[in-house]
Amino acid sequence: MGSRGWSPATAGRDLARGTPSTEPRSTAGSSPPFDGLDCRPMPTYRAPRGTRDLLPGETATWTRLERLAADLAARYGYHRIETPLFELTDVFERGVGEVTDIVEKELFRLAPRTEEGEAWALRPEPTAGIVRAYVQHGMQTWPQPVKLTETGPMFRYDRPQAGRYRQFWQWDVEAIGDPGPAIDAEIIELATRFYREAGLAGVEVQLNSIGDPACRPAYVAELTAYFRANVSALPELERDRLERNVLRLLDSKDPAMAALNAAAPRITDRLCGLCAEHFAGVQTHLDALGVPYRLAPGLVRGLDYYTRTAFEFYVVGREGQQQALAGGGRYDGLVELLGGRPTPGIGFGIGLDRLLLALAETNAPGASVVEPPLVAVVVGADPDDTVTRLRVATDLRAAGIAARAELGRRKLGKQLEAAARDQAHFAVIVGDELAAGEVGLRDLPAGTQKLVAIEDLAREIGRSHGAHRHGPAPD
Ligand code: AMP
Repeated sequence: MGSRGWSPATAGRDLARGTPSTEPRSTAGSSPPFDGLDCRPMPTYRAPRGTRDLLPGETATWTRLERLAADLAARYGYHRIETPLFELTDVFERGVGEVTDIVEKELFRLAPRTEEGEAWALRPEPTAGIVRAYVQHGMQTWPQPVKLTETGPMFRYDRPQAGRYRQFWQWDVEAIGDPGPAIDAEIIELATRFYREAGLAGVEVQLNSIGDPACRPAYVAELTAYFRANVSALPELERDRLERNVLRLLDSKDPAMAALNAAAPRITDRLCGLCAEHFAGVQTHLDALGVPYRLAPGLVRGLDYYTRTAFEFYVVGREGQQQALAGGGRYDGLVELLGGRPTPGIGFGIGLDRLLLALAETNAPGASVVEPPLVAVVVGADPDDTVTRLRVATDLRAAGIAARAELGRRKLGKQLEAAARDQAHFAVIVGDELAAGEVGLRDLPAGTQKLVAIEDLAREIGRSHGAHRHGPAPD
């Protein structure tokens, strides 16, 4: 990076390398000699369509949200799990459902590489992989429910647009082994708290029950008959779905469907006794916790494995197709479907990309977190003495202080200018006094300077800077 120093803008230029692009860069064609600066003609690589680099400058907010998620998960008794980014395709075909957009159209299938020719796919969502792990590792013998959390990238080969990426991040929470309904409410309250603590206002949970294998088949038959009777009014895509996954028609965002859907039979009027009791129980618990929710009889979720409770989070007034901030629900048949004993489960996936967009759009206070600047920069009168500067900075870091050593061989004045640009609190100035065991300590914002014994340096900086210290305090 040469003498330009680091900045989000320059870092971005380096991160942008890595994948081919068809769009030529403006530097292509010219060929200035390489002089240590980043101005060589560069291959025209870009991140693949539908993906993006998260650059320094954006990542501080991202880190805040990930930490909040991890903190909340721990507060609610969830344990971290990490499952592979890819699984046998079968896990998704069975676990998500073959007649879903996610599996039919959006699965990133990987070419088989093993002699056995196993078919793999990148995970489009985390629940199937987590449940596969639950079965594989015999977690049904652990105390139930097993409460698991995972944060990471998901992959869907979808048409990229605002808020819809081919690689996106989810914070996922799963409670496996509890039939509810109290835990359903607990998990919805957890997601609600996450948005509140993240600083996003106006978030609403929409709630529905989609029944279970006892009552859903009769409802599906009734719904199919209803739409068949109105088939001439159906848009072509919905006509195709009618015979394959009729429930999906209910969450169609096609304006032509609005009136038909409003008059369609409602699952919540046709729940069996146990499902109705469960749904009432979820609402009683949510009411007791003071969690507001809106009943949404058309909410069916895109995945086949859901039973009973289904929910989605939206910013009020922004309820379009790409606008769901999070989705979740109960999946009482999934563990068995993936080879385990019948075991109930419930979870949610919160999209972090859309949360970041929503925070920015609403100018929420936590929308752009600024990384704390360095505490100290070690500079020196002898430009060539990088050894001493690096040693002093290393000792400061060992004492828990965020420090940078000036490793360029420029004059002291330039070194101090760079320290001020870094917005460091202190410049540690290594000079002739080192022979007597002392260095200069300049408080850059205050413009004051004093000599400090080298063995007292970390303590002195720590005392003056207390609040911004990283890691263990110097003794
Ligand atoms: P789903 O499993 O489709 O309900 O997704 C759960 C959440 O993940 C959604 O509410 C979104 O916040 C997020 N999400 C799903 N698909 C995408 C995507 N293609 N790009 C960005 N975020 C997504």
